[in-house]
Amino acid sequence: MTSHDRMLAESDVLIVGAGIVGLAHAAEALRHGLTVTVIDRDSRAVGASVRNFGHCCVTAQSGELLDFALVARERWLHYSELAGFFSVSAGALAVARSAEELAVLDELAGQRESGQVQLLAASEVEERLSGDTGSVVGGALLRDDLRVDPREAVGALAAWLQQQPGVRFFWRTSYLGGDGDSAITSRGTVRATRTIVCVGHDLDYLFPELAEQHEVRRCGLQMARVEAPRGIRIAPAVLTGTSMLRYPAFTETGASPALRAKIGADDPGLIDIDANVMFTQRPDGSLLVGDSHRYDLTMDSFQREATSELLLDRIAQLLGVDSLRVVERWQGVYASSPQHPYLVEEPLSGVSVVSVTSGVGMTISFGLAKAVFDGLG
Ligand SMILES: Cc1cc2nc3c(=O)[nH]c(=O)nc-3n(C[C@H](O)[C@H](O)[C@H](O)COP(=O)(O)OP(=O)(O)OC[C@H]3O[C@@H](n4cnc5c(N)ncnc54)[C@H](O)[C@@H]3O)c2cc1C
Repeated sequence: MTSHDRMLAESDVLIVGAGIVGLAHAAEALRHGLTVTVIDRDSRAVGASVRNFGHCCVTAQSGELLDFALVARERWLHYSELAGFFSVSAGALAVARSAEELAVLDELAGQRESGQVQLLAASEVEERLSGDTGSVVGGALLRDDLRVDPREAVGALAAWLQQQPGVRFFWRTSYLGGDGDSAITSRGTVRATRTIVCVGHDLDYLFPELAEQHEVRRCGLQMARVEAPRGIRIAPAVLTGTSMLRYPAFTETGASPALRAKIGADDPGLIDIDANVMFTQRPDGSLLVGDSHRYDLTMDSFQREATSELLLDRIAQLLGVDSLRVVERWQGVYASSPQHPYLVEEPLSGVSVVSVTSGVGMTISFGLAKAVFDGLG
């Protein structure tokens, strides 16, 4: 008997992939009273979901993504309490160091209900950054943003789900294919009326035509963990002008083109590496700092030191110090499509494929999972 002939499990739903997208779908299935099997090819999640900032970037989303993010915010708080992982709902601090950055924040504040985007004076921003950087002209507190520690949260959520009646996890188990009611895995067959494939950027390994149709590529990001200078403690996620070139609520403002031109003229290196200069603080005090973006069908693993140096230098500038002590560096990879920020497809009857194809999986996954299950009835 080969492993393909062996019956591994039977449940209402099979989730493939235990990153945040897969876990959000498993949690949603459980809320619907369904039995769930989760498989992942690794012995724990080590993909994009643990390599990120842990920032649920709510306020800077717009339209449907904002709706998803608001659902996700509630779900993060709920599961953080149930599964006992760190979360902090202290918002995000958007630091403005030019009139153009202030104009974007000012315009967004005018569009939102009172209190969602709270404009801050330079001194209030500097107080939150615990230092006088000399370059801040103002900023905003994005009230509804939330943070988790990605390395802890994703594992803790999986561990909590694993303890729930009707949920079974099989680690080191690869999905090889299947149809509506049975899936072939490297350990045997799983019978399920619905399979939801959440394999992130590895979508092309399983469904190459679908990946091609949506022009899904890999996005590689350089990240580092540094010691916090001066022992600073800062609860909000910290965003800068380059963050305002990235998230839709900022880029949809009328002030956005002038900001892009300004950063392009003043600091073109940041545009060249498609930077989002930002950081979040882990519970141990260290800072997750980043990031750059480059795109390819297959991502090479060689990190560019010049890119890391530029990012570290700009974070040091933001914090008003000469240099930062790096503890770790890594490359993160996520799925990216120029067509849309996520995709939900049904390539085979009974098989759904869900992938967040932009850098907002921690922000929208729970809301997206709710929409997927609402759609499945
Ligand atoms: C550096 C970086 C910073 C980011 N910052 C943020 C942020 O602050 N906020 C935010 O909202 N988003 C952020 N993102 C984006 C976010 O991390 C991703 O959108 C999200 O983690 C994608 O989740 P996923 O579950 O699809 O992918 P993954 O976490 O990569 O999980 C996919 C899983 O599928 C499994 N798998 C693959 N193939 C198979 C198979 N055949 N069989 C079984 N299992 C399989 C893998 O082992 C893996 O565990 C960032 C991403 C990176 C890389």
